[in-house]
Amino acid sequence: MSEGQPFRLLPALGTADEHVWLGGADGELRFLRCTACGWWLHPAGPICPNCLERELVVEAVSGRGVVHAKTVNHQPWIPGFDPPYSVAIVELPEQVGLRFTTNIVGCAPEDVTTGMPVRVTFEQYSDVWLPFFEPDGDAS
Ligand SMILES: [Zn+2]
Repeated sequence: MSEGQPFRLLPALGTADEHVWLGGADGELRFLRCTACGWWLHPAGPICPNCLERELVVEAVSGRGVVHAKTVNHQPWIPGFDPPYSVAIVELPEQVGLRFTTNIVGCAPEDVTTGMPVRVTFEQYSDVWLPFFEPDGDAS
């Protein structure tokens, strides 16, 4: 965490999904992917839910997506992380139903709309890179 960053609850490393929290070091949002059928797994699991294959690899998605659902939090649930802020579910184009719960940054919370094109951006806190999404001005 560097000066000026808000307090964040950080994920634990050493878990099955740590690639999600470390990929930002290379600017990549990464998930497990099935080597047999190409299914993306998020959240991570030990087996492909689509074909039951056990050989999974970590791969990067494009980092683009659209806001599937959103809300604006006005409650001070987390001391040091001040409202209002947007909480959103972003759907990724790689697979129908591949969704990531995140915060939308880079715009006012009330300006986040469903269907809005967004792209991933990372903020480093200690040894993890939190994936957030920001408005994608380049998307058509
Ligand atoms: Zn599979």
